Amino acid sequence: MNLFDVYPLYPITPVKALDCIITDDKGIEYLDLYSGHGVISIGHTQPYYVAKVKAQLDNLSFYSNAIQNPLQVELADKLGKLSGYTDYSLFLCSSGAEANENALKMASFHTNKSRVISFDNAFHGRTSAAVATTDNKKIIAPLNAQQIVTFLPLNQIDLVEAELKKGDVCAVIIEPIQGVGGLDQGTTEFFQALEKVCKANDVVLILDEVQSGFGRSGKFFAHQYHDIKPDIICMAKGMGNGFPIGGILIAPHFEASYGLLGTTFGGSHLACAASIAVLDVIESQNLMENAKKVETYFMEAIKVIPEIIKVKGRGLMLGVEFDFDVSALRKKMIIEKHIFTGGSSNKNLLRILPPLTITTEAIDTFIVALRESLAELK
Ligand code: PLP
Repeated sequence: MNLFDVYPLYPITPVKALDCIITDDKGIEYLDLYSGHGVISIGHTQPYYVAKVKAQLDNLSFYSNAIQNPLQVELADKLGKLSGYTDYSLFLCSSGAEANENALKMASFHTNKSRVISFDNAFHGRTSAAVATTDNKKIIAPLNAQQIVTFLPLNQIDLVEAELKKGDVCAVIIEPIQGVGGLDQGTTEFFQALEKVCKANDVVLILDEVQSGFGRSGKFFAHQYHDIKPDIICMAKGMGNGFPIGGILIAPHFEASYGLLGTTFGGSHLACAASIAVLDVIESQNLMENAKKVETYFMEAIKVIPEIIKVKGRGLMLGVEFDFDVSALRKKMIIEKHIFTGGSSNKNLLRILPPLTITTEAIDTFIVALRESLAELK
């Protein structure tokens, strides 16, 4: 049987990895500055994490959500403490799109309305129920036949307010830092005004932290730079360091009822053990501080490359923008310099999303390789 061919593949076969280094089947070592779309938060095969997951596998990997699971309680407790959201509730699922689906569903139930506001170049997942496109202005039919999505430009609060005043909007969904779309961000002024207009119009504010959350920005959630409190926060990628787990944090004013949300796989014993281990390591190794430290170093060190027209992002969710398509550069970095970086829907942007354990020495290695590659491509 063939694999359904939907991914263009680089000719590399990784077989093992440790921290920020990936080794392929020929023994070649690669520096991982992409962590598989920001999934590897605490480094590959982190020993404490591996031990926790293995121990859980030996005991019990899965049972039903209808039976008590103390690991979910432990995860919620640790997550509340580390994020500062102790008064919110946690619902667990298995991916980013599923987290967003559940958030939109909650918003729809809560307001009895269905239209969703999203932003140009946003990316919230690929299921039909998540607002699912970087193809602006396209209307997706999600949760039910009536639910449509209106895309607006970032940082234009008057346009948002005009839409909310129409009275048919259930939610505004926004990434604090756009991932797939190319690392644009709203200003603090915009986020604070968004919080205000959502409240004033009884619209649910959903922060999609699927890529930016779990310490990647240097704070637990990237929206915490803007001093706002969303109604629902969506998480996934870095949450399980490779084990599929997602979730939403739900503000106290939402009421739970039996059957309102549900999932088979979400919050399994194994998934919870993985995510608890991630939180333990983020805390014990001060990885949020490391993200900030390495960001500061990166911002200074990258100045030696005159071809870069803009550095975007925050913490270890960064991008460097050129005035040309970076696909050849990215390919050269991987195949010849053995460094993984990422692309985005902005073809001129090279994305840097290393594990949060990355060192300043690794950034030096990247900058030397980037300089050489740019010279060789001239
Ligand atoms: N939301 C954001 C911000 C994302 O970056 C992604 C994936 O890239 C998703 C949602 C979808 O997550 P998943 O692929 O786990 O469904």
